[in-house]
Amino acid sequence: MRTRDPLDVLNRVFGYDEFRPGQQKIVDHVTSGGDALVLMPTGGGKSLCYQIPALAREGTGVVISPLIALMQDQVDALRALGVRAGFLNSTQDPGERRLTESQLLAGELDLLYLAPERLNVDATRRLLDRAPLALFAIDEAHCVSQWGHDFRPDYLALSGLHEQWPDVPRIALTATATKATHAEISNRLGLDDALHHVASFDRPNIQYRIAPKNEPRKQLLDLLRTEHDGDAGIVYCLSRKSVEETAEFLVRGGIDAVPYHAGLDAATREHHQARFLREDGLIVVATIAFGMGIDKPDVRFVAHLDLPKSVEGYYQETGRAGRDGLPSTAWLAYGLQDVMQQRKLIESSEGDQAHRRKLASHLDAMLALCETIECRRVQLLAYFGQDGQPCGNCDTCLTPPESWDGTVAAQKLLSTVVRLKRERNQKFGAGQIIDILRGKSTTKITQHRHDELSVFGVGSDLGDNEWRGVIRQLLATGLLAVEGEYGTLVTTPASDEVLYQGRQVHLRREPKRAATREKTKRAAQTTDLPDEAKPAFDRLRDWRGATAKEQGVPAYIIFHDATLRQIAVDHPSTLDELGSVSGVGENKLNKYGEQILAALAD
Ligand code: ADP
Ligand code: ZN
Repeated sequence: MRTRDPLDVLNRVFGYDEFRPGQQKIVDHVTSGGDALVLMPTGGGKSLCYQIPALAREGTGVVISPLIALMQDQVDALRALGVRAGFLNSTQDPGERRLTESQLLAGELDLLYLAPERLNVDATRRLLDRAPLALFAIDEAHCVSQWGHDFRPDYLALSGLHEQWPDVPRIALTATATKATHAEISNRLGLDDALHHVASFDRPNIQYRIAPKNEPRKQLLDLLRTEHDGDAGIVYCLSRKSVEETAEFLVRGGIDAVPYHAGLDAATREHHQARFLREDGLIVVATIAFGMGIDKPDVRFVAHLDLPKSVEGYYQETGRAGRDGLPSTAWLAYGLQDVMQQRKLIESSEGDQAHRRKLASHLDAMLALCETIECRRVQLLAYFGQDGQPCGNCDTCLTPPESWDGTVAAQKLLSTVVRLKRERNQKFGAGQIIDILRGKSTTKITQHRHDELSVFGVGSDLGDNEWRGVIRQLLATGLLAVEGEYGTLVTTPASDEVLYQGRQVHLRREPKRAATREKTKRAAQTTDLPDEAKPAFDRLRDWRGATAKEQGVPAYIIFHDATLRQIAVDHPSTLDELGSVSGVGENKLNKYGEQILAALAD
C-alpha cells in the first residue's frame, strides 16, 4: 500500500512543525497498518493520531464517535483544512446521506464520521465493505467499558470490527481511563497486542479547587465576577431543576448563561450548544448530558455545584477547560449534603449488589479526593495510576489545609448515634445529632427529652460548621452511614473500631471561607500579549469573527486563538512568513492569507 509521509501531512495540512511527544510513534505505527490504544488527556492531541494516518494511507478513515451533535463541526473543521470529510448519522436527510455514501464509494473521502449505532446496521457494514478503508478510529473508547462511567451498549459491537475487516488497522482513543477501564477497553476491543500509549494525564494549566459549599450559587457568582469575567465556561449541576434555577440565577446576576439538559427539546439543546461553540464568553449550565467531545479550545472554567459520581467523570468534565493550554479553573463546591445525597442515591439505585458496590467505590474515590489534605493533582494522577509531584496549582498546594486529631470528636458523635439507637431506639439526621452534641435547647430537643441523654452538650467545644465537617468526613470514609428517605445517621462495622478499638481519626480542618482568592487570581489572567501586538490581535479577531459568522462556523475553526496571537506577535508581511506560523496550513494560507496580511497592514 502506498502511503504519504506523515510529517509532510502534519506540515502541509495542519500547518504544525513537529509532532508532540507520543504522536509520532502512534502515527507511524497506525500508518504502517498496526493497531493502537491511546490514552491521552483532553487537549493532548488525539485527533491527529488518527487523522494523519487516515490521510497518509489510501482509502477512507472511519471515525466512530458517539457525538452526533458535534459531527457537523468536526467535519467543518476538517474541510477548512482542505480535508475531504463527511459523516453519516440520524440527523441527515436521505439526500445528504446518499451523497456521502457515493463519495465514500468513489474514494472521495479522507475521513468519515459514524455513530456507533450506524455501524450496527447491516446496510452500513455492507456499504463499508465496498469502500477502500484506511483505518477505524474508535473515539471515546471508554464508552465500551461497563466499569467506567459512560457505558454505551452500542460500543460493545465494535469488538466485531476486527473479524470483518482483519486488514484494516484500528486505533481506539480516550481521554479518561483508570487501569481497570484501560484493561477493559483493551480486552473488549481485542487490542491486547496493539501499541498501547498512555500519556501523562496531567493538565498543568488547570487549577483544581474544591471549596466548602455554603451558598453554592452565590459562591459561583462570586467566582465568575472576580476571576472569570466575560469568560466561557461550563457549570455542572446534578438535576435538571437545579440547572434551570442556576441558569436563571446567573442571568439575574447579569451573566450570559443558558441551560442544557436532556429534558429540553432537541432544538433548544442544539441551539444552546451552537451558541456556546460560536459565541465568546457564554456560560452553559448543564447536567452531565452536556460536553462530551466539545472541543471548544477556550473554555476557561468548569464549575461543579454538585459532587460528581466518580473521579473519572470529574476528570472528564473538568478536562473540558483549557484545551488551548492557557490557565483555566476547575472549581467544585462540596458539602455534607452532597455526601448524604450521593450515598442515598446509591442505596436506592436499581441493579444488583455488585452494581451498588461499583457505584460506592467510585464515590469513595471521589470523596477521598475532596477530603484530601495533599495535592489534588497528585491524588488525581494516582487515581489513574500515575505519579506526580505537589503541583503548586491547586487549592491544597496554594493554601495547605490543616489536619487535626478528630478521634475524640468522632467518638462523641458515634456514641450519640449509638445511644439514641440503644437507649431510645431512635435514629436522627445530622441536624438533631449536632444540636444534641452542642447542647442546644430547641423545641425538638425538649420534645424528645434529648437533653436527658448523657451525651447532651459534650460537643460544645465545636461549632455547627465543624460538626458538619466531622459528619461529612466520617461519611466520606465509611465510619458512618446514612439510611432511608430522611437521611438518618447510622453506624457501620468500622464505627466500632473508633469507638472500642482505638482507631485514630484524622480530619481536615474546615477552612474559613474563600481564603484562597488572592493567591488563585493567577488563573484568571490569560497569557500576556505584548502591548505592541494587541491592536493587531484585536483586528485579527474582528476579521475572524466576521469570517466565522459569514460561514456559520465557530470562530476556532477559522483559526485558534493561539495561532492568531502568534500571527499578531510575528507580524508577517509576506505569505511565506505567514505560512511558517504554527497552525497555518496550506489550505488556510491559500484561502485567508491575503485577508490576514490586509488586516495586519490596516
Ligand atoms: P484531544 O482530541 O486529545 O483533546 P486535539 O486533537 O483536539 O486534542 O488537540 C488539541 C489541540 O492541540 C488542537 O488545537 C490541535 O490542533 C493541537 N495540536 C495537536 N497536535 C499538535 C502538534 N503536533 N503541534 C501543534 N499543535 C497540535
Ligand atoms: Zn497541587
